[in-house]
Amino acid sequence: MSERVSVLIERLTRLVQNDAQAEGLKPTQWEALRYIVRANLFSRSPGALTAYLGMTKGTVSQTLQALERKGLIEKKTVDGDRRGVQLALTKAGHRILDKDPLNALAASIAGMPQDAQGTFETTLENLIIEMLERRGGRAFGACKTCRHFRGKHSLGTPHFCSLLNESLSRSDSEQLCAEQTAA
Ligand code: SF4
Repeated sequence: MSERVSVLIERLTRLVQNDAQAEGLKPTQWEALRYIVRANLFSRSPGALTAYLGMTKGTVSQTLQALERKGLIEKKTVDGDRRGVQLALTKAGHRILDKDPLNALAASIAGMPQDAQGTFETTLENLIIEMLERRGGRAFGACKTCRHFRGKHSLGTPHFCSLLNESLSRSDSEQLCAEQTAA
């Protein structure tokens, strides 16, 4: 059974990879764009992207340079900000994500019954976390599932991070974080 499931995942990955040369972008470039749009303020750095992709610094640096040359991302340096260089999508970067080749897979998944989608999501999440733990990698899960996440905060913003001592908006709570630790 486990071998059969492994082969099915490999076939699915191959189908996705075959589609991932769309719009003149390479698969890693698409992955970087998806990460930047989903990562929270504390995680939009080249270093966090490198950890997320599990690639070398040099490969990620080349990927970012290519995306910058295509006008899809920009780098911002905030003086005195401990977060250093921040990556952001340009308007063209947001527009090209509308043509993300992964949308075809998302549409197929959306056609599955709701409970099957939920089971599928949980199973894949657990599998990825288990494999990352064995490799010493980070989970990069959603902020609202983190043990440092505190709902409601007296400063007026809805939420709070007890690790970074920062207020979090509702949309922050849905984003990926390099520091996330499952609750
Ligand atoms: S609560 Fe966790 S996931 Fe959210 S910002 Fe803090 S460390 Fe990151």
